[in-house]
Amino acid sequence: MAWECGIDDCGAGFEDVESAVVHQATEHERRECQVCGTIVPDGYLAIRHTFTEHSRAEYVRAYGASSEAVREREELLEEVESVADMQAIATELKR
Ligand SMILES: [Zn+2]
Ligand SMILES: [Zn+2]
Repeated sequence: MAWECGIDDCGAGFEDVESAVVHQATEHERRECQVCGTIVPDGYLAIRHTFTEHSRAEYVRAYGASSEAVREREELLEEVESVADMQAIATELKR
């Protein structure tokens, strides 16, 4: 399964999800979480931060997100979590 970077119009493609997440965290500018102000890597890790550190209600309030947008992100998180080796990603990002 191929993975595509969905940030803006990047569209870079990757063989595995770990490479895609590392790409998002290293090639794209970091963002400030609109809920707590923490600087987080863009892309999947930003979504993961928001959905694990904050409630859905906080996310919706801070980003003006629709329930559709929330569902899409929850699905993405589940999908990535089911296939990604988070340990490998963390190791890669520490280098
Ligand atoms: Zn990208
Ligand atoms: Zn936050």
